[in-house]
Amino acid sequence: MAVLPRPPAGKLRRDQRAALERRPCIQACPTGIDIPSFIRKIATGDPKGAAKDILTQNIMGAVCARVCPTEVLCEGACVRTAQEERPVRIGALQRYATDWLFDAGVQLFKAGPASGKKVAVVGGGPAGLSCAHRLAMLGHAVSVFDARPKLGGLNEYGVAAYKVAGEIAQHEVAYLLAVGNIQVHNGQALGRDISFPQLRRDYDAVFLGAGLGGVNGLGIEDGGIAGVFDAIGYIETLRQAKNLAALPVGRKVVVIGGGMTAIDIASQTRRLGAEDVTIVYRRGQEQMSASLKEQDWAQTNGIRIKHWSRPSRLVTEKSAVTAVEFEYTKLDAGGKLTGTGERYTLAADMVFKAIGQTLVADPFVEGNKQVLEMQDGRIKVDGERHSSLAGVWAGGDCVAGGEDLTVAAVEDGKQAALNIDAWLKRAAASIDSALSAVKKK
Ligand SMILES: Cc1cc2nc3c(=O)[nH]c(=O)nc-3n(C[C@H](O)[C@H](O)[C@H](O)COP(=O)(O)OP(=O)(O)OC[C@H]3O[C@@H](n4cnc5c(N)ncnc54)[C@H](O)[C@@H]3O)c2cc1C
Ligand code: SF4
Repeated sequence: MAVLPRPPAGKLRRDQRAALERRPCIQACPTGIDIPSFIRKIATGDPKGAAKDILTQNIMGAVCARVCPTEVLCEGACVRTAQEERPVRIGALQRYATDWLFDAGVQLFKAGPASGKKVAVVGGGPAGLSCAHRLAMLGHAVSVFDARPKLGGLNEYGVAAYKVAGEIAQHEVAYLLAVGNIQVHNGQALGRDISFPQLRRDYDAVFLGAGLGGVNGLGIEDGGIAGVFDAIGYIETLRQAKNLAALPVGRKVVVIGGGMTAIDIASQTRRLGAEDVTIVYRRGQEQMSASLKEQDWAQTNGIRIKHWSRPSRLVTEKSAVTAVEFEYTKLDAGGKLTGTGERYTLAADMVFKAIGQTLVADPFVEGNKQVLEMQDGRIKVDGERHSSLAGVWAGGDCVAGGEDLTVAAVEDGKQAALNIDAWLKRAAASIDSALSAVKKK
């Protein structure tokens, strides 16, 4: 399958062991994988044990090994950096162990004894699938509803193909579903094929992991102009394309945005043959949500990044884009972003909007009324990932205050499942004690 890194050979030195025991890397991993333990197992020739350490905490550890911004997570906290000026390659080792397991065809998990409870999961992305897997292991009957034909969410339809090459996203989905007790309903959208009140009525609990389906606008007139694309939509088409040569690719590409989506679409179009690719971001390098490593990577692949500029006008000829006019920006005395009035133009025959996504909240209604409390345009949840509605949990990109990372979505799903399980057990215990009180009377 994949190119595997060589596992560290032989026993660990004393200083290596001491470093592993300090374990700040575990704190830095949102799913709390016991990194020293899995590395030790690889070092002692036990890749299956290593994979078990990883997948017990993070059932999507194979894709996370490929997409996690490790330099700001686990590897960023690695104690070996101080001693040897570079961290242990945790992501690569995680990939080695999980690929080993998939290649060996070993299933480590099975559904727990039936609890008699049913849980609906909306969205089969990292948050929904992680929740579904943990619930199944806890014995609950899970139904996953996803609007798209395949599960995996952005692992399948969003993240750039060079990060999750081949069939790894679907391989991981298949491994996860093999636990049993998870019924999948693809092509079933909440708000179109099923309703929120219906789910709340028919299931004992509901988890919402619907991600962010909407895209932000540029703030300038861009409707009906040929050559202007939404980056996510284009990546989705590209990820599912059988023949990449059939995809339209410009010669001069301008990408507006500063996150992972901007880096991904810029890299993808460059790989597809665009001659000149420029990312333009309205603030400085430090404010870009794409990590410095990703920015460096893009630049070494011939992509220009321009900062402190925002689009002011699309220049068109016969309704097709030919250039983008930008205005330089700066922070005013109050720290607010403002235009300087100075402008420049970049030639472009293809423009991508990569300026963030928004929650489509329409499906979460009852009788046309929004019944979930929102915060900053996303679903408000507490520390247990419980929403404002009894029996409804949520996690991943669709909730407020998250990090918009695959690994964070996986953790949300896992924590929600644990809390749903505790809630269902508490509810069952209350019913039992009420019944026994009635019997005694
Ligand atoms: C271009 C791009 C690149 C990225 N690169 C990285 C990266 O390199 N590393 C990283 O860690 N993160 C990356 N991310 C972020 C990461 O992909 C997300 O944080 C993660 O996928 C969130 O998982 P989720 O389950 O919350 O949502 P999603 O992955 O969006 O899954 C939501 C699921 O819900 C389904 N759905 C939506 N609405 C409905 C409905 N009404 N009814 C039923 N189903 C519905 C969707 O079909 C989808 O399957 C990237 C994101 C993008 C857009
Ligand atoms: S899941 Fe991501 S952050 Fe956690 S240890 Fe693995 S690569 Fe690092």
